Amino acid sequence: MTVHPSDSPADIDVVVVGAGFAGLYALHRLRGMGLSARAFEQAEDVGGTWYWNRYPGARCDVESIDYSFSFSEELQQEWSWTERYATQPEILRYLNHVADRFDLRPAITFGTRVVSAVYHEPSAQWLVETDRGHRVTARYCIMAVGCLSLGRIPDFPGLESFRGQAYHTGTWPRQGVDFAGLRVGVIGTGSSGIQVIPQIAQQAAHLTVFQRTPHYTIPAQHHQLDPEWLAEFKHQYADYRARMRVSRGGVSRDYSERRALDTPPEQRRRVYQARWNFGGAEILGSFADLLTDTEANQTVAEFVAGKIREIVRDPDVAGRLVPRGYPFGAKRLCVDTGYYDTYNRDNVTLVDVTATPIEAITPAGLRTTAAEHELDAIVFATGFDAMTGALLAMDIRGRGGLPLRQAWEAGPRTYLGLSVAGFPNLFIVTGPGSPSVLSNVVLSIEQHVEWITDFLGYLRKHDIDWAEPRTRAQDSWVAHVNDVASQTLFPVGNSWYLGANVPGKPRVFMPYIGGVGRYRAICDQVAAAGYTGFDLGAAGQDTDPELPAVADAEAAWG
Ligand SMILES: Cc1cc2nc3c(=O)[nH]c(=O)nc-3n(C[C@H](O)[C@H](O)[C@H](O)COP(=O)(O)OP(=O)(O)OC[C@H]3O[C@@H](n4cnc5c(N)ncnc54)[C@H](O)[C@@H]3O)c2cc1C
Repeated sequence: MTVHPSDSPADIDVVVVGAGFAGLYALHRLRGMGLSARAFEQAEDVGGTWYWNRYPGARCDVESIDYSFSFSEELQQEWSWTERYATQPEILRYLNHVADRFDLRPAITFGTRVVSAVYHEPSAQWLVETDRGHRVTARYCIMAVGCLSLGRIPDFPGLESFRGQAYHTGTWPRQGVDFAGLRVGVIGTGSSGIQVIPQIAQQAAHLTVFQRTPHYTIPAQHHQLDPEWLAEFKHQYADYRARMRVSRGGVSRDYSERRALDTPPEQRRRVYQARWNFGGAEILGSFADLLTDTEANQTVAEFVAGKIREIVRDPDVAGRLVPRGYPFGAKRLCVDTGYYDTYNRDNVTLVDVTATPIEAITPAGLRTTAAEHELDAIVFATGFDAMTGALLAMDIRGRGGLPLRQAWEAGPRTYLGLSVAGFPNLFIVTGPGSPSVLSNVVLSIEQHVEWITDFLGYLRKHDIDWAEPRTRAQDSWVAHVNDVASQTLFPVGNSWYLGANVPGKPRVFMPYIGGVGRYRAICDQVAAAGYTGFDLGAAGQDTDPELPAVADAEAAWG
Protein backbone atom coordinates (compact mmCIF):
# COMPACT_ATOMS: atom_id res chain seq x y z
CA MET A 1 0.00 0.00 0.00
CA THR A 2 1.34 3.43 -0.93
CA VAL A 3 0.20 6.59 0.77
CA HIS A 4 0.47 9.76 -1.33
CA PRO A 5 0.20 13.34 -0.18
CA SER A 6 -3.42 14.26 -0.94
CA ASP A 7 -6.52 16.08 0.22
CA SER A 8 -8.61 13.01 0.86
CA PRO A 9 -7.21 11.00 3.73
CA ALA A 10 -6.11 7.42 3.10
CA ASP A 11 -7.61 4.98 5.57
CA ILE A 12 -5.54 2.34 7.32
CA ASP A 13 -5.59 0.45 10.61
CA VAL A 14 -2.46 1.80 12.27
CA VAL A 15 -0.09 4.73 11.85
CA VAL A 16 3.32 4.17 13.40
CA VAL A 17 5.53 7.21 13.95
CA GLY A 18 9.25 6.42 13.83
CA ALA A 19 11.37 3.64 12.29
CA GLY A 20 13.97 2.86 14.93
CA PHE A 21 13.96 -0.40 16.93
CA ALA A 22 10.39 0.33 18.10
CA GLY A 23 8.81 1.31 14.80
CA LEU A 24 10.40 -1.62 12.95
CA TYR A 25 9.20 -4.20 15.42
CA ALA A 26 5.73 -2.64 15.57
CA LEU A 27 5.42 -2.89 11.77
CA HIS A 28 6.54 -6.51 11.84
CA ARG A 29 3.98 -7.47 14.49
CA LEU A 30 1.13 -5.52 12.92
CA ARG A 31 1.69 -7.14 9.56
CA GLY A 32 1.73 -10.55 11.20
CA MET A 33 -1.74 -9.76 12.56
CA GLY A 34 -3.03 -8.80 9.12
CA LEU A 35 -3.43 -5.11 10.00
CA SER A 36 -2.66 -2.39 7.48
CA ALA A 37 0.05 -0.17 8.89
CA ARG A 38 2.24 2.67 7.69
CA ALA A 39 5.21 4.21 9.42
CA PHE A 40 6.35 7.78 8.90
CA GLU A 41 9.99 8.49 9.59
CA GLN A 42 11.66 11.86 9.57
CA ALA A 43 15.03 10.36 8.63
CA GLU A 44 15.90 9.16 5.13
CA ASP A 45 16.34 5.59 6.33
CA VAL A 46 15.72 3.19 9.22
CA GLY A 47 17.69 3.14 12.48
CA GLY A 48 16.37 5.96 14.69
CA THR A 49 19.01 6.70 17.34
CA TRP A 50 21.57 4.80 15.29
CA TYR A 51 20.75 6.66 12.12
CA TRP A 52 21.19 10.06 13.75
CA ASN A 53 24.00 9.61 16.29
CA ARG A 54 26.96 9.02 13.97
CA TYR A 55 29.54 10.84 16.04
CA PRO A 56 32.92 9.15 16.44
CA GLY A 57 32.91 6.83 19.44
CA ALA A 58 29.12 6.26 19.43
CA ARG A 59 28.35 2.81 20.84
CA CYS A 60 25.71 1.13 22.92
CA ASP A 61 26.55 0.87 26.61
CA VAL A 62 24.45 -2.23 27.13
CA GLU A 63 26.29 -5.27 25.78
CA SER A 64 25.47 -6.11 22.14
CA ILE A 65 24.25 -9.61 22.95
CA ASP A 66 21.67 -7.99 25.26
CA TYR A 67 21.01 -4.86 23.17
CA SER A 68 19.33 -6.63 20.26
CA PHE A 69 16.00 -8.17 19.31
CA SER A 70 14.99 -11.47 20.84
CA PHE A 71 11.65 -11.93 19.08
CA SER A 72 13.07 -14.07 16.29
CA GLU A 73 15.26 -17.06 17.14
CA GLU A 74 16.40 -17.18 13.49
CA LEU A 75 17.48 -13.53 13.64
CA GLN A 76 19.46 -13.92 16.84
CA GLN A 77 21.11 -17.07 15.55
CA GLU A 78 22.10 -15.66 12.17
CA TRP A 79 23.38 -12.27 13.39
CA SER A 80 26.83 -12.19 14.97
CA TRP A 81 27.99 -9.18 16.93
CA THR A 82 31.70 -8.55 16.60
CA GLU A 83 32.29 -6.42 19.71
CA ARG A 84 31.21 -6.46 23.34
CA TYR A 85 29.63 -3.00 22.92
CA ALA A 86 28.66 -2.55 19.29
CA THR A 87 29.60 0.62 17.43
CA GLN A 88 26.99 2.85 15.84
CA PRO A 89 27.80 1.57 12.29
CA GLU A 90 27.37 -2.03 13.41
CA ILE A 91 24.02 -1.36 15.12
CA LEU A 92 22.84 0.55 12.06
CA ARG A 93 23.85 -2.39 9.83
CA TYR A 94 21.86 -4.66 12.16
CA LEU A 95 18.73 -2.51 11.92
CA ASN A 96 19.06 -2.37 8.14
CA HIS A 97 19.36 -6.15 8.15
CA VAL A 98 16.19 -6.38 10.28
CA ALA A 99 14.31 -4.06 7.91
CA ASP A 100 15.36 -6.14 4.87
CA ARG A 101 15.01 -9.56 6.45
CA PHE A 102 11.41 -8.85 7.46
CA ASP A 103 10.71 -6.77 4.33
CA LEU A 104 9.62 -3.72 6.31
CA ARG A 105 10.78 -0.89 4.04
CA PRO A 106 7.72 -0.83 1.77
CA ALA A 107 5.60 0.08 4.81
CA ILE A 108 7.74 3.12 5.70
CA THR A 109 7.52 6.62 4.25
CA PHE A 110 10.95 8.19 4.83
CA GLY A 111 11.98 11.81 4.98
CA THR A 112 8.58 12.67 6.38
CA ARG A 113 7.71 14.19 9.74
CA VAL A 114 4.36 13.73 11.40
CA VAL A 115 3.21 17.20 12.44
CA SER A 116 -0.19 16.43 13.92
CA ALA A 117 -2.48 13.65 15.06
CA VAL A 118 -6.07 14.57 15.89
CA TYR A 119 -8.67 12.20 17.33
CA HIS A 120 -12.12 12.25 15.75
CA GLU A 121 -14.62 11.02 18.32
CA PRO A 122 -17.61 10.08 16.11
CA SER A 123 -15.53 7.69 14.01
CA ALA A 124 -12.99 6.76 16.72
CA GLN A 125 -10.22 7.47 14.20
CA TRP A 126 -7.02 9.46 14.23
CA LEU A 127 -6.27 11.93 11.45
CA VAL A 128 -2.51 12.07 11.01
CA GLU A 129 -0.84 14.77 8.92
CA THR A 130 2.75 15.14 7.80
CA ASP A 131 5.04 17.97 6.77
CA ARG A 132 4.85 16.64 3.19
CA GLY A 133 1.08 16.87 2.96
CA HIS A 134 0.06 13.28 3.72
CA ARG A 135 -3.33 12.88 5.43
CA VAL A 136 -4.06 9.45 6.81
CA THR A 137 -6.90 8.25 9.00
CA ALA A 138 -6.17 5.32 11.22
CA ARG A 139 -7.94 3.59 14.06
CA TYR A 140 -4.76 3.42 16.11
CA CYS A 141 -1.59 5.48 16.47
CA ILE A 142 1.59 3.96 17.81
CA MET A 143 4.12 6.58 18.83
CA ALA A 144 7.53 4.97 18.36
CA VAL A 145 9.26 8.35 18.39
CA GLY A 146 12.06 7.46 20.81
CA CYS A 147 12.82 8.57 24.33
CA LEU A 148 16.08 10.31 23.34
CA SER A 149 15.42 11.57 19.84
CA LEU A 150 14.82 15.30 20.07
CA GLY A 151 18.23 16.90 20.50
CA ARG A 152 18.57 20.17 22.31
CA ILE A 153 21.09 22.98 22.28
CA PRO A 154 20.85 25.43 25.18
CA ASP A 155 19.82 28.89 24.18
CA PHE A 156 23.31 30.45 24.32
CA PRO A 157 23.40 34.13 23.35
CA GLY A 158 25.15 34.58 20.01
CA LEU A 159 24.58 31.00 18.90
CA GLU A 160 23.90 31.97 15.30
CA SER A 161 26.93 34.25 15.09
CA PHE A 162 29.56 31.48 15.21
CA ARG A 163 31.61 31.46 11.98
CA GLY A 164 33.14 27.99 12.44
CA GLN A 165 31.62 24.53 12.09
CA ALA A 166 28.91 23.54 14.61
CA TYR A 167 27.51 20.06 15.25
CA HIS A 168 25.10 18.38 17.64
CA THR A 169 26.06 14.77 18.43
CA GLY A 170 22.46 13.69 17.80
CA THR A 171 22.38 14.95 14.19
CA TRP A 172 25.90 14.10 13.07
CA PRO A 173 26.66 14.52 9.34
CA ARG A 174 26.46 11.28 7.38
CA GLN A 175 29.77 11.94 5.64
CA GLY A 176 31.59 12.35 8.98
CA VAL A 177 33.74 15.26 10.13
CA ASP A 178 37.50 15.69 9.89
CA PHE A 179 38.80 17.62 12.90
CA ALA A 180 42.48 17.30 11.95
CA GLY A 181 44.38 20.50 12.69
CA LEU A 182 41.33 22.24 14.22
CA ARG A 183 40.73 23.90 17.56
CA VAL A 184 37.60 22.13 18.76
CA GLY A 185 35.30 22.82 21.70
CA VAL A 186 32.98 20.16 23.10
CA ILE A 187 30.14 21.43 25.28
CA GLY A 188 28.66 18.76 27.51
CA THR A 189 30.03 15.76 29.35
CA GLY A 190 27.07 13.35 29.51
CA SER A 191 26.98 9.97 27.73
CA SER A 192 27.57 11.36 24.23
CA GLY A 193 30.26 13.83 25.33
CA ILE A 194 32.09 11.10 27.21
CA GLN A 195 32.09 8.91 24.08
CA VAL A 196 33.08 11.60 21.60
CA ILE A 197 35.75 13.46 23.62
CA PRO A 198 38.49 10.76 23.50
CA GLN A 199 37.96 10.39 19.75
CA ILE A 200 38.11 14.09 18.91
CA ALA A 201 41.14 14.52 21.17
CA GLN A 202 43.05 12.12 18.92
CA GLN A 203 42.30 14.18 15.80
CA ALA A 204 42.10 17.82 16.81
CA ALA A 205 45.00 20.22 17.15
CA HIS A 206 43.48 21.24 20.46
CA LEU A 207 40.33 20.18 22.29
CA THR A 208 38.67 22.28 24.97
CA VAL A 209 36.00 20.50 26.98
CA PHE A 210 33.37 22.72 28.59
CA GLN A 211 31.99 20.81 31.56
CA ARG A 212 29.03 21.94 33.65
CA THR A 213 28.34 18.71 35.54
CA PRO A 214 30.93 15.96 35.85
CA HIS A 215 29.29 12.57 35.31
CA TYR A 216 30.27 9.22 36.70
CA THR A 217 31.66 7.00 34.00
CA ILE A 218 33.02 3.49 34.18
CA PRO A 219 35.48 2.03 31.66
CA ALA A 220 33.79 -0.35 29.24
CA GLN A 221 36.75 -2.78 29.34
CA HIS A 222 35.75 -3.23 25.78
CA HIS A 223 36.86 -6.15 23.62
CA GLN A 224 36.14 -8.02 20.41
CA LEU A 225 33.83 -11.02 20.73
CA ASP A 226 35.51 -14.31 20.00
CA PRO A 227 33.46 -16.02 17.23
CA GLU A 228 33.90 -19.41 18.90
CA TRP A 229 32.68 -18.08 22.23
CA LEU A 230 29.72 -16.43 20.50
CA ALA A 231 28.75 -19.60 18.63
CA GLU A 232 28.78 -21.50 21.92
CA PHE A 233 26.88 -18.73 23.73
CA LYS A 234 24.12 -18.78 21.13
CA HIS A 235 23.09 -22.28 22.17
CA GLN A 236 21.69 -20.82 25.35
CA TYR A 237 20.37 -17.53 23.92
CA ALA A 238 16.72 -18.38 24.62
CA ASP A 239 17.39 -19.03 28.34
CA TYR A 240 19.57 -15.95 28.55
CA ARG A 241 16.80 -13.77 27.13
CA ALA A 242 14.27 -15.34 29.50
CA ARG A 243 16.43 -14.25 32.46
CA MET A 244 16.73 -10.71 31.07
CA ARG A 245 12.94 -10.40 30.83
CA VAL A 246 12.44 -10.93 34.56
CA SER A 247 15.48 -8.91 35.64
CA ARG A 248 15.64 -5.42 37.09
CA GLY A 249 17.28 -3.54 34.22
CA GLY A 250 16.54 -5.86 31.31
CA VAL A 251 20.11 -7.10 31.13
CA SER A 252 21.79 -10.27 32.24
CA ARG A 253 23.67 -8.30 34.92
CA ASP A 254 23.97 -9.89 38.27
CA TYR A 255 22.57 -7.77 41.13
CA SER A 256 23.91 -8.70 44.52
CA GLU A 257 21.45 -9.09 47.40
CA ARG A 258 24.15 -8.06 49.91
CA ARG A 259 24.21 -4.62 51.47
CA ALA A 260 27.32 -2.46 51.15
CA LEU A 261 26.99 -1.28 54.75
CA ASP A 262 26.95 -4.86 56.04
CA THR A 263 30.18 -5.63 54.18
CA PRO A 264 33.61 -4.92 55.69
CA PRO A 265 35.39 -2.03 53.85
CA GLU A 266 38.22 -4.15 52.44
CA GLN A 267 35.84 -6.76 51.07
CA ARG A 268 33.62 -4.01 49.67
CA ARG A 269 36.61 -2.56 47.86
CA ARG A 270 37.44 -5.93 46.32
CA VAL A 271 33.88 -6.20 45.01
CA TYR A 272 34.08 -2.73 43.43
CA GLN A 273 37.51 -3.50 41.98
CA ALA A 274 36.26 -6.75 40.44
CA ARG A 275 33.29 -5.01 38.86
CA TRP A 276 35.47 -2.10 37.69
CA ASN A 277 37.75 -4.65 36.02
CA PHE A 278 34.75 -6.34 34.43
CA GLY A 279 33.64 -2.99 33.06
CA GLY A 280 30.44 -1.11 32.28
CA ALA A 281 27.43 -0.44 34.42
CA GLU A 282 27.95 -3.77 36.23
CA ILE A 283 29.28 -1.86 39.23
CA LEU A 284 25.76 -0.61 40.04
CA GLY A 285 24.78 -4.15 40.93
CA SER A 286 27.61 -4.55 43.47
CA PHE A 287 25.31 -4.15 46.47
CA ALA A 288 21.57 -3.92 47.01
CA ASP A 289 21.60 -0.65 48.96
CA LEU A 290 23.67 1.54 46.60
CA LEU A 291 20.67 3.36 45.20
CA THR A 292 18.59 3.47 48.34
CA ASP A 293 21.02 4.46 51.09
CA THR A 294 23.16 7.63 50.95
CA GLU A 295 25.91 6.21 53.13
CA ALA A 296 26.15 3.03 51.02
CA ASN A 297 26.16 5.16 47.90
CA GLN A 298 29.10 7.17 49.21
CA THR A 299 31.23 4.03 49.41
CA VAL A 300 30.99 3.43 45.65
CA ALA A 301 31.24 7.16 44.89
CA GLU A 302 34.49 7.32 46.86
CA PHE A 303 35.85 4.26 45.10
CA VAL A 304 35.24 5.83 41.68
CA ALA A 305 36.61 9.23 42.80
CA GLY A 306 39.78 7.39 43.87
CA LYS A 307 40.05 5.87 40.39
CA ILE A 308 39.71 9.28 38.74
CA ARG A 309 42.50 10.66 40.93
CA GLU A 310 44.63 7.63 40.10
CA ILE A 311 44.18 7.98 36.32
CA VAL A 312 44.30 11.76 35.84
CA ARG A 313 47.82 13.06 36.54
CA ASP A 314 47.00 16.72 37.22
CA PRO A 315 45.33 16.77 40.66
CA ASP A 316 43.51 19.99 39.86
CA VAL A 317 41.97 18.53 36.69
CA ALA A 318 41.16 15.29 38.51
CA GLY A 319 39.40 17.29 41.23
CA ARG A 320 37.23 19.00 38.64
CA LEU A 321 36.30 15.65 37.07
CA VAL A 322 35.10 14.11 40.33
CA PRO A 323 31.30 14.33 40.47
CA ARG A 324 29.77 15.97 43.50
CA GLY A 325 26.39 17.03 44.75
CA TYR A 326 24.42 14.00 43.58
CA PRO A 327 24.49 10.28 44.34
CA PHE A 328 26.41 7.79 42.22
CA GLY A 329 24.02 6.33 39.61
CA ALA A 330 21.28 8.93 40.15
CA LYS A 331 22.19 10.43 36.79
CA ARG A 332 22.67 8.02 33.91
CA LEU A 333 25.86 6.09 34.56
CA CYS A 334 28.14 6.49 31.55
CA VAL A 335 30.42 3.86 30.06
CA ASP A 336 33.60 4.99 28.33
CA THR A 337 36.73 4.03 26.51
CA GLY A 338 39.74 6.02 27.71
CA TYR A 339 37.75 9.02 28.94
CA TYR A 340 39.69 10.04 32.05
CA ASP A 341 43.04 9.28 30.43
CA THR A 342 42.17 11.78 27.68
CA TYR A 343 42.76 14.58 30.21
CA ASN A 344 46.43 13.53 30.44
CA ARG A 345 46.93 14.63 26.84
CA ASP A 346 48.76 17.89 26.17
CA ASN A 347 46.18 18.98 23.60
CA VAL A 348 43.16 18.75 25.96
CA THR A 349 41.94 21.47 28.34
CA LEU A 350 39.05 21.13 30.78
CA VAL A 351 37.00 24.24 31.54
CA ASP A 352 34.55 24.15 34.44
CA VAL A 353 31.58 26.19 33.28
CA THR A 354 29.85 25.97 36.63
CA ALA A 355 32.65 28.06 38.08
CA THR A 356 33.00 30.24 34.97
CA PRO A 357 29.73 30.02 32.99
CA ILE A 358 29.46 30.37 29.23
CA GLU A 359 28.36 33.95 28.53
CA ALA A 360 28.03 33.73 24.79
CA ILE A 361 28.96 31.97 21.59
CA THR A 362 30.95 34.50 19.57
CA PRO A 363 31.87 34.63 15.85
CA ALA A 364 35.36 33.37 16.76
CA GLY A 365 34.44 30.83 19.45
CA LEU A 366 33.06 31.05 22.92
CA ARG A 367 33.29 33.41 25.88
CA THR A 368 33.06 32.37 29.50
CA THR A 369 33.04 34.74 32.45
CA ALA A 370 36.79 34.10 32.69
CA ALA A 371 38.16 33.91 29.13
CA GLU A 372 37.69 34.01 25.35
CA HIS A 373 38.21 30.63 23.64
CA GLU A 374 38.98 30.75 19.92
CA LEU A 375 37.50 27.70 18.20
CA ASP A 376 37.25 26.37 14.65
CA ALA A 377 34.50 23.91 15.53
CA ILE A 378 31.99 23.46 18.35
CA VAL A 379 30.41 20.12 19.18
CA PHE A 380 27.23 20.34 21.20
CA ALA A 381 27.00 17.16 23.27
CA THR A 382 24.12 18.75 25.10
CA GLY A 383 21.69 15.85 25.06
CA PHE A 384 18.00 15.53 24.46
CA ASP A 385 14.61 16.72 25.51
CA ALA A 386 14.14 13.25 26.95
CA MET A 387 11.04 11.09 26.98
CA THR A 388 8.48 13.77 26.14
CA GLY A 389 10.30 16.00 23.62
CA ALA A 390 9.47 14.16 20.39
CA LEU A 391 5.87 13.53 21.48
CA LEU A 392 5.21 17.15 22.35
CA ALA A 393 6.90 18.37 19.16
CA MET A 394 3.79 17.06 17.34
CA ASP A 395 0.36 18.62 17.74
CA ILE A 396 -1.46 15.66 19.30
CA ARG A 397 -5.11 16.28 20.18
CA GLY A 398 -7.39 13.83 21.94
CA ARG A 399 -11.03 13.92 23.01
CA GLY A 400 -12.64 17.35 22.75
CA GLY A 401 -9.56 18.61 20.90
CA LEU A 402 -7.49 18.45 24.09
CA PRO A 403 -3.83 19.06 23.18
CA LEU A 404 -1.35 16.62 24.74
CA ARG A 405 0.80 19.66 25.54
CA GLN A 406 -2.03 20.91 27.74
CA ALA A 407 -2.78 17.53 29.31
CA TRP A 408 0.93 17.30 30.26
CA GLU A 409 1.38 20.94 31.25
CA ALA A 410 2.38 19.94 34.77
CA GLY A 411 4.43 16.97 33.55
CA PRO A 412 3.66 13.73 31.72
CA ARG A 413 0.88 11.51 33.05
CA THR A 414 0.32 8.09 31.56
CA TYR A 415 -1.25 4.78 32.38
CA LEU A 416 1.56 2.20 32.49
CA GLY A 417 3.68 4.50 30.33
CA LEU A 418 1.68 3.15 27.40
CA SER A 419 -1.42 5.30 27.04
CA VAL A 420 -2.93 8.58 28.18
CA ALA A 421 -6.40 9.40 29.57
CA GLY A 422 -8.24 11.55 27.01
CA PHE A 423 -6.30 10.04 24.07
CA PRO A 424 -8.09 6.85 23.00
CA ASN A 425 -6.29 4.36 20.75
CA LEU A 426 -3.00 6.20 21.09
CA PHE A 427 -0.11 4.12 22.34
CA ILE A 428 3.40 5.16 23.31
CA VAL A 429 6.43 2.87 23.16
CA THR A 430 8.80 3.33 26.14
CA GLY A 431 6.89 6.41 27.27
CA PRO A 432 7.18 8.27 30.57
CA GLY A 433 5.90 6.07 33.39
CA SER A 434 7.54 2.93 31.95
CA PRO A 435 11.08 1.57 32.64
CA SER A 436 12.25 3.01 29.32
CA VAL A 437 15.62 4.75 29.70
CA LEU A 438 16.30 2.95 32.99
CA SER A 439 16.38 -0.36 31.20
CA ASN A 440 17.87 -2.12 28.24
CA VAL A 441 15.61 -0.13 25.94
CA VAL A 442 15.44 -2.78 23.19
CA LEU A 443 14.01 -5.30 25.64
CA SER A 444 11.51 -2.72 26.87
CA ILE A 445 10.56 -1.90 23.28
CA GLU A 446 9.83 -5.56 22.59
CA GLN A 447 7.68 -5.83 25.70
CA HIS A 448 5.72 -2.68 24.84
CA VAL A 449 5.19 -3.53 21.20
CA GLU A 450 4.01 -7.03 22.11
CA TRP A 451 1.66 -5.72 24.80
CA ILE A 452 0.21 -3.02 22.52
CA THR A 453 -0.30 -5.33 19.54
CA ASP A 454 -1.84 -8.02 21.74
CA PHE A 455 -4.24 -5.35 23.01
CA LEU A 456 -5.14 -4.39 19.44
CA GLY A 457 -5.83 -8.07 18.74
CA TYR A 458 -8.11 -8.18 21.78
CA LEU A 459 -10.00 -5.06 20.70
CA ARG A 460 -10.56 -6.48 17.23
CA LYS A 461 -11.63 -9.85 18.54
CA HIS A 462 -14.24 -8.20 20.76
CA ASP A 463 -15.25 -5.71 18.08
CA ILE A 464 -14.30 -2.75 20.25
CA ASP A 465 -13.59 0.54 18.48
CA TRP A 466 -11.74 2.46 21.14
CA ALA A 467 -9.81 1.97 24.34
CA GLU A 468 -8.81 4.72 26.73
CA PRO A 469 -7.31 4.59 30.20
CA ARG A 470 -9.47 5.84 33.02
CA THR A 471 -8.22 8.96 34.75
CA ARG A 472 -8.41 7.17 38.08
CA ALA A 473 -6.27 4.29 36.87
CA GLN A 474 -3.78 6.77 35.41
CA ASP A 475 -3.64 8.79 38.65
CA SER A 476 -3.05 5.65 40.60
CA TRP A 477 -0.25 4.54 38.23
CA VAL A 478 1.43 7.97 38.38
CA ALA A 479 1.27 7.82 42.19
CA HIS A 480 2.85 4.37 42.12
CA VAL A 481 5.67 5.52 39.79
CA ASN A 482 6.41 8.44 42.12
CA ASP A 483 6.15 6.30 45.19
CA VAL A 484 8.70 3.77 43.89
CA ALA A 485 11.07 6.57 42.78
CA SER A 486 10.84 8.28 46.16
CA GLN A 487 12.15 5.15 47.87
CA THR A 488 15.43 5.57 45.98
CA LEU A 489 18.14 8.19 45.59
CA PHE A 490 17.25 8.79 41.94
CA PRO A 491 15.12 11.92 42.36
CA VAL A 492 18.02 13.59 44.22
CA GLY A 493 20.15 13.77 41.05
CA ASN A 494 19.24 16.86 39.05
CA SER A 495 19.01 14.73 35.93
CA TRP A 496 17.25 14.56 32.60
CA TYR A 497 15.20 11.74 34.13
CA LEU A 498 13.49 14.65 35.90
CA GLY A 499 13.53 17.01 32.93
CA ALA A 500 16.10 19.15 34.78
CA ASN A 501 18.17 19.76 31.61
CA VAL A 502 15.39 21.68 29.87
CA PRO A 503 14.57 25.12 31.30
CA GLY A 504 10.88 25.38 32.17
CA LYS A 505 10.21 21.64 31.85
CA PRO A 506 8.10 20.41 34.79
CA ARG A 507 10.12 18.37 37.31
CA VAL A 508 8.61 14.89 37.27
CA PHE A 509 10.62 11.71 37.69
CA MET A 510 9.64 10.17 34.34
CA PRO A 511 10.88 6.56 34.12
CA TYR A 512 9.41 3.71 36.20
CA ILE A 513 12.09 2.41 38.49
CA GLY A 514 10.35 -0.71 39.79
CA GLY A 515 12.31 -2.94 37.37
CA VAL A 516 11.41 -4.45 34.03
CA GLY A 517 10.49 -7.83 35.50
CA ARG A 518 8.01 -6.34 37.93
CA TYR A 519 6.69 -3.93 35.30
CA ARG A 520 6.13 -6.75 32.81
CA ALA A 521 4.23 -8.73 35.45
CA ILE A 522 1.96 -5.71 36.10
CA CYS A 523 1.26 -5.20 32.39
CA ASP A 524 0.56 -8.92 31.94
CA GLN A 525 -1.79 -8.91 34.90
CA VAL A 526 -3.67 -5.89 33.51
CA ALA A 527 -4.08 -7.74 30.18
CA ALA A 528 -5.03 -11.08 31.72
CA ALA A 529 -7.77 -9.42 33.76
CA GLY A 530 -9.38 -7.97 30.61
CA TYR A 531 -7.33 -4.76 30.36
CA THR A 532 -8.25 -3.33 33.71
CA GLY A 533 -8.05 0.43 33.97
CA PHE A 534 -9.25 0.98 30.41
CA ASP A 535 -12.65 2.16 29.27
CA LEU A 536 -13.65 0.44 26.06
CA GLY A 537 -16.34 1.52 23.63
CA ALA A 538 -17.93 1.64 20.19
CA ALA A 539 -17.41 4.56 17.80
CA GLY A 540 -19.62 7.51 18.64
CA GLN A 541 -20.61 6.02 21.98
CA ASP A 542 -19.52 6.29 25.55
CA THR A 543 -18.36 3.19 27.39
CA ASP A 544 -20.48 0.21 26.40
CA PRO A 545 -21.63 -1.69 29.50
CA GLU A 546 -21.99 -4.85 27.40
CA LEU A 547 -18.27 -4.95 26.68
CA PRO A 548 -15.93 -7.06 28.82
CA ALA A 549 -15.89 -5.83 32.38
CA VAL A 550 -13.12 -3.47 33.47
CA ALA A 551 -12.29 -4.06 37.08
CA ASP A 552 -10.20 -1.69 39.10
CA ALA A 553 -6.62 -1.75 37.95
CA GLU A 554 -4.66 -1.05 41.09
CA ALA A 555 -4.70 -4.67 42.16
CA ALA A 556 -1.92 -5.23 39.61
CA TRP A 557 0.59 -3.10 41.50
CA GLY A 558 -1.04 -2.13 44.78
C1 LIG B 1 23.89 7.96 21.65
C2 LIG B 1 22.89 7.07 22.26
C3 LIG B 1 23.27 5.84 22.78
C4 LIG B 1 22.33 5.01 23.35
N1 LIG B 1 22.75 3.81 23.87
C5 LIG B 1 21.84 3.00 24.45
C6 LIG B 1 22.25 1.77 25.04
O1 LIG B 1 23.40 1.41 25.05
N2 LIG B 1 21.30 1.01 25.62
C7 LIG B 1 20.00 1.36 25.65
O2 LIG B 1 19.19 0.62 26.18
N3 LIG B 1 19.58 2.51 25.07
C8 LIG B 1 20.46 3.33 24.49
N4 LIG B 1 20.05 4.51 23.94
C9 LIG B 1 18.62 4.81 23.89
C10 LIG B 1 18.08 4.52 22.47
O3 LIG B 1 17.42 5.66 22.07
C11 LIG B 1 17.18 3.29 22.49
O4 LIG B 1 17.93 2.19 22.93
C12 LIG B 1 16.56 2.88 21.15
O5 LIG B 1 17.43 3.03 20.06
C13 LIG B 1 15.28 3.65 20.93
O6 LIG B 1 14.62 3.14 19.79
P1 LIG B 1 13.23 3.77 19.37
O7 LIG B 1 12.84 3.12 18.11
O8 LIG B 1 12.29 3.74 20.49
O9 LIG B 1 13.54 5.32 19.15
P2 LIG B 1 14.58 6.02 18.18
O10 LIG B 1 15.68 5.11 17.84
O11 LIG B 1 14.90 7.32 18.80
O12 LIG B 1 13.73 6.25 16.86
C14 LIG B 1 12.67 7.15 16.84
C15 LIG B 1 12.53 7.65 15.43
O13 LIG B 1 11.33 8.42 15.37
C16 LIG B 1 11.54 9.46 14.45
N5 LIG B 1 10.59 10.52 14.76
C17 LIG B 1 10.44 11.21 15.92
N6 LIG B 1 9.43 12.11 15.80
C18 LIG B 1 8.94 11.96 14.55
C19 LIG B 1 7.89 12.60 13.83
N7 LIG B 1 7.13 13.54 14.39
N8 LIG B 1 7.66 12.19 12.55
C20 LIG B 1 8.41 11.22 11.97
N9 LIG B 1 9.43 10.59 12.60
C21 LIG B 1 9.68 10.96 13.88
C22 LIG B 1 12.98 9.91 14.68
O14 LIG B 1 13.49 10.52 13.52
C23 LIG B 1 13.66 8.57 14.99
O15 LIG B 1 14.29 8.07 13.87
C24 LIG B 1 20.97 5.38 23.39
C25 LIG B 1 20.59 6.63 22.90
C26 LIG B 1 21.53 7.46 22.35
C27 LIG B 1 21.08 8.80 21.83
